[in-house]
Amino acid sequence: MADTEMSKTSENTEQTEYDTVTCHACDGAGCVYCNKTGSVEVKKPAKLCPKCGGDCCIYCGYTGWENPRGKYD
Ligand SMILES: [Zn+2]
Ligand SMILES: [Zn+2]
Repeated sequence: MADTEMSKTSENTEQTEYDTVTCHACDGAGCVYCNKTGSVEVKKPAKLCPKCGGDCCIYCGYTGWENPRGKYD
């Protein structure tokens, strides 16, 4: 009767973790790209956007970070 428990536990292993980092578009002041919070959540491990190196571009949603949460989920 333990068979049903195995399918339950496998769901928890694929959760995406995020780091909170300073928005590069506004340097923490708050702007439209970070919802005026000054920080953005990015997929762990947090890395600067490889396209612009943190200068902000369309690929990073103008946050300067790779894989910002939400926009590309
Ligand atoms: Zn910002
Ligand atoms: Zn970029």
